[in-house]
Amino acid sequence: MPTKIDMAKFAKFCKDMGFIFQSSEIYGGINGFWDYGPLGVELKKNIKDAWWLDMVRNPPPGPDGQEIRMVGLDCAIIMNPKVWVASGHAGGFADPMVSCTAEGCRKLFRADQLWVSSFGDQSQKPQGDSFVETDLPNIIAELRRINEEEPVGKREELKKQVERVRDAKIASIYQPALLKSCIASSEPDAIEGTALTKTEQKSNPNLYRMLTWHLNHAGGERWPVPCPACGKTQLTEPRAFNLMNETHTGPIKSDENLAYLRPETAQGIFVNYRNVMDSTRLKLPFGIAQIGKAFRNEINPRNFTFRSREFEQMEIEFFCRPDESMKWYEYWRDLRKKWYSTLGVKSDNLIPREQGKEELAHYSIGTTDIEYMFPFSDEPQELEGVAHRGSYDLTAHAKHSGNDKLNYFDEEKWNADSGGRTTNSFKEWMKTNPSAADIEKYQFTPHVIEPSAGADRFTLAVLCEAYTEDKVPDAKGNEETRIVMKFHPRLAPIKAAIFPLVNKDGMPETAMKLYRELKPYFNVFFDDKGAVGRRYRRQDEAGTPFCITIDGDTAKDNTVTIRDRDTLKQERVPLSQVRAVIERALMPGS
Ligand code: ATP
Repeated sequence: MPTKIDMAKFAKFCKDMGFIFQSSEIYGGINGFWDYGPLGVELKKNIKDAWWLDMVRNPPPGPDGQEIRMVGLDCAIIMNPKVWVASGHAGGFADPMVSCTAEGCRKLFRADQLWVSSFGDQSQKPQGDSFVETDLPNIIAELRRINEEEPVGKREELKKQVERVRDAKIASIYQPALLKSCIASSEPDAIEGTALTKTEQKSNPNLYRMLTWHLNHAGGERWPVPCPACGKTQLTEPRAFNLMNETHTGPIKSDENLAYLRPETAQGIFVNYRNVMDSTRLKLPFGIAQIGKAFRNEINPRNFTFRSREFEQMEIEFFCRPDESMKWYEYWRDLRKKWYSTLGVKSDNLIPREQGKEELAHYSIGTTDIEYMFPFSDEPQELEGVAHRGSYDLTAHAKHSGNDKLNYFDEEKWNADSGGRTTNSFKEWMKTNPSAADIEKYQFTPHVIEPSAGADRFTLAVLCEAYTEDKVPDAKGNEETRIVMKFHPRLAPIKAAIFPLVNKDGMPETAMKLYRELKPYFNVFFDDKGAVGRRYRRQDEAGTPFCITIDGDTAKDNTVTIRDRDTLKQERVPLSQVRAVIERALMPGS
């Protein structure tokens, strides 16, 4: 991997092994939500721990050779809703929108309006694929007619058409049961809903989203609807611009206590910038890091966990002087890409993509998406964004909160420049009407570099990257196919499995003793069931880098065999050295 793979087969493997389960599966699941099983939770925890250790506690020195100053934070998921007004998240559009990606255009349109305007236009439909047969607009037109002319008849015919939609690859994403129930309903509102009138958004938001999604996609391909502004067929899929999940705090559900589940962890860092500075007395440059859940009501959760509605982020906001920000941007961009390689992601599959000027958010001076060639896609997809956000966020929070302490006074610089001044008081000096450029040398809003990574996306990438099918000899020397998860040892859910070769001659006791000695340090697994070959296979599928076997010689010379998952080499090692062998493999950078 990642050559192309059957994601359904892969998801089944992940389920069977206990990596990832569909959330609330026994009730039919819920779109966009996932649970991590016993192996998955260890894998994801190892990813977050590696990030925390390598970025927060032990980042490499900065471009000037100095230590990086970095501290952590753990903020509440629900914050004062004013935070989201200041950040711009609450001011977005409530409707799904599409945007034109053509250079020089980049206009935004309401998805439903485009859909309606192309309704019935045969030339807009894709040719030669299954969607022509399961053409949703035609079905809806037919439904309208049936509803008007034959309200009780034609049920069987209708059902067949719905089945055809169900068969279409894309409809399966959107729970055809929903469509079915709308269509089967004789409620005027529901029928109206399929026709995308004004009542639709309220009565059937999911159906609405499904229909608008069809605007651009046909059986996985883009539906070439031209942009009404420039005429090019480069529209994105519809996406909600206001992706925030709403909730209420307190016993009464009213507008006054409306709150949001955070759509990113970053804002918690910005609003605590002053608290962190005051409590730590950190000086620029420094970073604040946070790992935590984020929620986005994505219109189109897909590709297994890649786009979920609940996910975890690993974010750093690195505050620095404006005149040093480009240097820090480059530092973080390069460091973050390298980090993935040190954890076993092949550099061929890892593609940093500098966003073009026309793609950048209006406040951003530069953004690099670190992309990964996921096996479900022809194009690399974002794992992490490293953005130069300028002073946008702190300025916005200063303005909205009225707090004037979100800027920075560079005391060191002020003191260093004391020679040419008549006063050492900044307040007094301000009375002398210095130029804005001079003031900014000492007092300014820091610039921010933001490496923002997804813990779940990286977990998925690690699973894809590790998945390998190869051939190994079985007990009789015949070749057999094995699935082996080639995780980097730092990320592997189980670090070592300990086997007594047979359950006699003191071997189980020695194996259990070793297991108990190792388990305070690593996640180790004791297995005395079945043939050793079969025990190896089970550990290969779990991605365990080392299998340690206690055999007949152990009692004689106090040695064990350690079998390497990838090379299959078996080495005899003194019992007293086992812990050191595992520890060496787990060293960062090893
Ligand atoms: P995308 O364009 O893929 O939606 P984004 O640019 O909106 O991503 P950011 O807001 O930059 O994403 O979030 C930072 C990181 O959080 C992303 O690089 C990704 O790893 C992760 N992330 C964002 N949205 C999701 C999601 N819906 N599901 C899983 N991870 C996500």
